[in-house]
Amino acid sequence: MASVQLLESFSSVAATSKQGHDYDLVIVGGGIIGLTLASALKDSGLSVLLVEAKAESAAVLKGQAYAVHMLSALIYQGIGVWDKILPQIEIYRRVRLSDADYRGIVEFTTADTGTEDLGYVAEHQALLYPLQEFVRNCPNITYLCPAKVISTEYQKETVTVKIQIAEQPVRTFKSKLLVAADGSRSRIREAAGIKTRGWKYWQSCIVAFVKPEKFHDHTAYEKFWPSGPFAILPLPGNRCRIVWTAPHKEAEALCALDDEQFLKELSRRFGDRMGKLELLGDRFIFQVQLMQSDRYALHRLALVGDAAHNCHPVGGQGLNLGIRDVAALAQVIRQANQAGEDIGCLQVLKRYERWRQRENLIVLGLTDFLDRVFSNNFLPVVLLRRFGLWVVQRVPLLKVYILKLMIGLTGRIPELARR
Ligand SMILES: Cc1cc2nc3c(=O)[nH]c(=O)nc-3n(C[C@H](O)[C@H](O)[C@H](O)COP(=O)(O)OP(=O)(O)OC[C@H]3O[C@@H](n4cnc5c(N)ncnc54)[C@H](O)[C@@H]3O)c2cc1C
Repeated sequence: MASVQLLESFSSVAATSKQGHDYDLVIVGGGIIGLTLASALKDSGLSVLLVEAKAESAAVLKGQAYAVHMLSALIYQGIGVWDKILPQIEIYRRVRLSDADYRGIVEFTTADTGTEDLGYVAEHQALLYPLQEFVRNCPNITYLCPAKVISTEYQKETVTVKIQIAEQPVRTFKSKLLVAADGSRSRIREAAGIKTRGWKYWQSCIVAFVKPEKFHDHTAYEKFWPSGPFAILPLPGNRCRIVWTAPHKEAEALCALDDEQFLKELSRRFGDRMGKLELLGDRFIFQVQLMQSDRYALHRLALVGDAAHNCHPVGGQGLNLGIRDVAALAQVIRQANQAGEDIGCLQVLKRYERWRQRENLIVLGLTDFLDRVFSNNFLPVVLLRRFGLWVVQRVPLLKVYILKLMIGLTGRIPELARR
């Protein structure tokens, strides 16, 4: 629906409150994370304005695919959108971790979790479409797309947000809380003066889709090469997603190869376990960075998803951390609202920050550790990590703990995931 048409209907939703608020909260960014937060606030009694700069048709064309962990799936079940997502995505029931050509591997299976599935792999649109449809059907949510937040001003009782909607004159809205879900280069975070810590990696990440000759058998592989981790994830239609990290120059050179040469290099890294691989579509290259915001919350502002943190793609954590942020924030503000508290005050938002900042830091640290320990040819480190893999595979308690840590089941479980 065009934003102009939406505008006509949303003036009826935005009933200005006694305190002069047009909405209880405004979410900047209708990527997967912003949409998930809005969806998690259905039936909350809170009025929500969700603003996304890209047109819906452009937003779905991201060409990205994600590992979706068990906790994320439980959160989507709790929201009530999982039955629309599941038919579009692939299940994995086995994960095989290996160190280059070393024969000892760590294998995680459903027997380790006692569940039917171990996790899922979803293309961007397989998550985005059902979420867009879901928010369109929530009467308490106004979904403004394409529309861009161009400025924000924080006062004691309110946050004032200026929004550019297509060619229309700029509109101004007042809200109790602004949530930045506007991605890693968050302008909202920068404008609020929140500092970040972290670094850019010496590696870039190449992503591509392939079709293997043999069935992928619902198996995800992560192979650690000295140049960087290499993952191959199963997708519907017996396709697979390649997530391949290598030092910048090597990654650029790989991307510049013709298809035949690229596939040859790919087979060298992955082997012929799935037979011949056929390249589907273009390859893309991404810069990889680790970033943690000093603050996840200020008075009238909360950061979620990539606006708050970024990590190395090893282990497919980034989006999943964002989904957990959103479930935690939704719980904190729902409970505050029910208790008659001001949802935008720092005292309330600090509960979210305390919950998520530390948990995310542990996972960020783990991805960094894995990348550094495995992207390394120093013999003592090689011997130590191979011994580590050997131990993990043979000590079930340790194996299950590592698996749970990677899929989010060691932290505080949000209520949405327990429904
Ligand atoms: C190579 C690679 C592989 C990855 N693989 C995985 C994986 O397997 N599993 C996983 O969990 N994660 C993975 N990730 C991480 C994942 O891609 C991100 O964590 C996730 O996409 C972040 O979502 P987001 O909604 O926070 O941000 P984004 O997807 O960046 O969305 C931000 C949205 O905000 C909008 N916006 C920005 N500014 C404004 C404004 N002023 N007004 C209105 N709208 C605005 C933008 O248009 C955009 O739609 C990977 C990342 C990379 C780079």
